[in-house]
Amino acid sequence: MTTTRTRAARIRRVHADGTTCEHQVHPRTGRPRDPAGGCTGRTGYSADCPGCGETITHDLRVVVADELKYRHRHRHTA
Ligand SMILES: [Zn+2]
Ligand SMILES: [Zn+2]
Repeated sequence: MTTTRTRAARIRRVHADGTTCEHQVHPRTGRPRDPAGGCTGRTGYSADCPGCGETITHDLRVVVADELKYRHRHRHTA
């Protein structure tokens, strides 16, 4: 995994209750790899728009990325 230094918002994995998931989960199912890790399972993705601070949440990562990239990018022209 590489780290980028762009201003783009970080998309984080979230649980059903909206808390950030930083556990190891299966990429397809979102199920936790470690049953004892306290993870309830990744149900979606969330990101804060750097322009307006609005939180975008969706169960598909690509939808969150597109929202940030297009919908929001156009709304806040730098
Ligand atoms: Zn988790
Ligand atoms: Zn925005």
